[in-house]
Amino acid sequence: MQITLTRENEYLPDLAKLMKKTKLTEMESLFEFEFLDNNVRKYFTYNPGQFVQVSIFGVGEAPFSVSSTPTRPGNLELGIRQTGNVTDAIHNLNVGDVVGIRGPYGNGFSMDKLCGKNLLFIAGGIGMVPLRSVINYIMDKRDDYGKVTIFYGACLPDERVFVDELENVWPNAPDVEMHQTVDECHETWQGNVGVVTCLFDVCKVASENTVAIICGPPVMYKFVVQDLMKLGFKGDDILLSLERKMQCGVGKCAHCQIGHKLTCIDGPVFTFSEVQRLQEAI
Ligand SMILES: Cc1cc2nc3c(=O)[nH]c(=O)nc-3n(C[C@H](O)[C@H](O)[C@H](O)COP(=O)(O)OP(=O)(O)OC[C@H]3O[C@@H](n4cnc5c(N)ncnc54)[C@H](O)[C@@H]3O)c2cc1C
Repeated sequence: MQITLTRENEYLPDLAKLMKKTKLTEMESLFEFEFLDNNVRKYFTYNPGQFVQVSIFGVGEAPFSVSSTPTRPGNLELGIRQTGNVTDAIHNLNVGDVVGIRGPYGNGFSMDKLCGKNLLFIAGGIGMVPLRSVINYIMDKRDDYGKVTIFYGACLPDERVFVDELENVWPNAPDVEMHQTVDECHETWQGNVGVVTCLFDVCKVASENTVAIICGPPVMYKFVVQDLMKLGFKGDDILLSLERKMQCGVGKCAHCQIGHKLTCIDGPVFTFSEVQRLQEAI
């Protein structure tokens, strides 16, 4: 039985200590946090695709997708790009420093509904951060899911995140096909060159019994969805994880509103059918 942690004040963060910091690229690092409170440590869980709000005391708070998988209890892993005030402060943390974490928030992926399906992951850049959680969840419950195909695109080879998993772990897992591409040619790169949609020419994907899961920079969604539609994917079988500027994370402030949807509670995972008619969704 899963025990849910309840809090009187939903804005109150739990304290967590930075246990490990690993550089992923020039701009991104993986941060592993451990909750200080034994109960939180024991019962905190999440769905792949959910996010947490991290507060750096005296600086501010920001949302980040969880990149670890609930199938591997232990530290909470967050892959974070350094872009501004809060993320600068996170990148400047030392092992042992304490932050606040509240959540998990958002819907995440319904992993039960995906059981038995073939899955096509299409990630761009740090869009791999939330998708890594889903992929590793499936790796740990491999028999419950069908064929897994992973398309990953980055601007440059050095901008790829989780390279060990991309190169050594996922391609060697049973019934997994992995393809990567970079936007710009590079002398050390022997692989595909072109934006992520060029991988549709490299790998033939069947839409039958397949769900496509997309996360990447905003520009990517429109072109990926167009190609999926050409292959016969229906809007309900295309899942998108969307990012919006967000503050409360709990559906009160409406900063992350897209049409009548709030990304923080109705998302961040939407079907394409849901967002199709919402202006500026993708
Ligand atoms: C649900 C969700 C999940 C996310 N997951 C991750 C993740 O796993 N890893 C990660 O690195 N980032 C993630 N982000 C983005 C992250 O929250 C922002 O990078 C962060 O809030 C920036 O805060 P800052 O104080 O460092 O930057 P600021 O100083 O506030 O801003 C720096 C610059 O970034 C812009 N900016 C800030 N937030 C956003 C945003 N949400 N979208 C577009 N531009 C923005 C600002 O306009 C400004 O130009 C996620 C966002 C959401 C909503």
